[in-house]
Amino acid sequence: MHIRPVTRLPDEQHPPLGPHTDAIIKAFESRDWIFLDCHDANTAFFTYRGSFGWIDFERKAYTPSDIDLATLDCLVIRDRKTFLAEVTTCGVTKGCSHHRSMTVRFPFDGLVLPDQLDEHETQARDIDTAEVAQCLLFRECSEAVCRG
Ligand SMILES: [Zn+2]
Ligand SMILES: [Zn+2]
Repeated sequence: MHIRPVTRLPDEQHPPLGPHTDAIIKAFESRDWIFLDCHDANTAFFTYRGSFGWIDFERKAYTPSDIDLATLDCLVIRDRKTFLAEVTTCGVTKGCSHHRSMTVRFPFDGLVLPDQLDEHETQARDIDTAEVAQCLLFRECSEAVCRG
């Protein structure tokens, strides 16, 4: 996903996540996520700074997707009083199944961020970038199952 500044701030009159908008943005930011955008009236989009061991994509000439990488991202979708976190995990968009980015979804109450974010943040920080590079170059990593 492209790292870009917020292009559309929450509408003060109709905040995208209702009364939880500020609290949810603050909760993500306190965990080193960047608030990127509101795609529409009921969503907010975040990306995790710790992706790939804190590589600073904001300072690069390319975006992660340019080089077939996916940062840990989260789209929060509000449906009346319930919230859905749609997470894209940190990984490759082309490569072996160990490293391929996946989309997972989990509901939450809008008061506390979902517990599952912990494991995805840890995976994003700890991902082996040498393995990822090999995966991008050769479409396989050194895991036994990949080497046959
Ligand atoms: Zn791989
Ligand atoms: Zn592999």
